[in-house]
Amino acid sequence: MSEKSSRTIAVTRSSMAPLDEYVAEITPLWESRWLTNRGEKHRQLEADLQEYLQSPHVSLFTNGHAALECALEALELLAGGEIITTPFTFASTTHAITRKGFKPVFADIKSTDYTLDPEKIEALITPNTVAIMPVHVYGSLCDTDAVEAIAKKHGLKVIYDAAHAFGVKRDGVSAATFGDASMFSFHATKVFNTIEGGGLTFTDDDLATRLDEWKNFGIAADGQTVFAGGNGKMNEFCAAMGICNLRHNDEEIAKRKHAHERYVEHLGNIEGLKLLEIPDNVEHNYAYFPVVFEDASHTTRDEVAAALADEDIFARKYFYPLTSDFACYADTYDAQHDTPIAYDIAERVLTLPLYADLTDDDIDRICNVVLSCVNK
Ligand SMILES: *Cc1c(COP(=O)(O)O)cnc(C)c1O
Repeated sequence: MSEKSSRTIAVTRSSMAPLDEYVAEITPLWESRWLTNRGEKHRQLEADLQEYLQSPHVSLFTNGHAALECALEALELLAGGEIITTPFTFASTTHAITRKGFKPVFADIKSTDYTLDPEKIEALITPNTVAIMPVHVYGSLCDTDAVEAIAKKHGLKVIYDAAHAFGVKRDGVSAATFGDASMFSFHATKVFNTIEGGGLTFTDDDLATRLDEWKNFGIAADGQTVFAGGNGKMNEFCAAMGICNLRHNDEEIAKRKHAHERYVEHLGNIEGLKLLEIPDNVEHNYAYFPVVFEDASHTTRDEVAAALADEDIFARKYFYPLTSDFACYADTYDAQHDTPIAYDIAERVLTLPLYADLTDDDIDRICNVVLSCVNK
């Protein structure tokens, strides 16, 4: 057996600002002893993100999932209603809907960019439908105009899972500006991180007040506890990490773009491989590098993943299985029948390693393995 050619490549690696910047940012906390509850760092990060994301309101949370659950409560949707969403996503999207007592109704995705297909939505609307929850999957923006036209016509709310879309713009307009609210995840593995963290962006001033109360036990500004809220406050150390990382975010995205382009040099124009298409009017964040293998037998994806793992390179079958195929939803949905395109893509997709510090050599190594399987 030959020696392994070189080191392990993980599917992702967290972006971290230089340590001395972080130390400078947290040092005042030893003076103030103000560690959470809307401290100075929290207020600064909200302001920095309002500017960066072009949103009049940014509400910070302990994590993206908590933000999503909180949005579902604070938008005051009719209890027990149906929410039309995509199964081609991370567990969080579907779980948030379920855990808040709503019923996920799955619409199929587009085979081009894997986002919710607006043409599949209207047939699923019933008198019980209360909202639409699309996902800007892999950082590709949904057809927001079409989704919101349907929502307006039927009096539905739109909440975007924008966990993948931090920093993405279309025609100069930020992903944070669509719908009634958008959720961003600032988890360690995302393009921008606060270690753990998340945020909601929206325009409604009243929603800002409700969310502040909701994530602090329902305690209002005057000290009265006005409803049974939960706890979802981001702490000062996470906010400080966000302040530092945000300063470097554009550089990090530029490095991701370089990695993306090197992948495309190797893997673009290879028969049987479909790469993510980035429209000319989109400033992308290069959050992920999904490859869809277009073989009829559905085996190439698994062969490539295994061959990469043999070389200590860890790609991810992201998203496989569909959330509607999770064991916990097993008897409720028929994914293959209800959302055939999503089902098919989930069987063929592999997300290759992509992060800001991924080297050209690493990418060349990864692509050699992929191509050796495809050309077999
Ligand atoms: C990461 C992620 C979430 C959840 O975010 P957390 O900050 O980890 O709670 C939700 N939806 C999608 C699509 C994600 O990728």
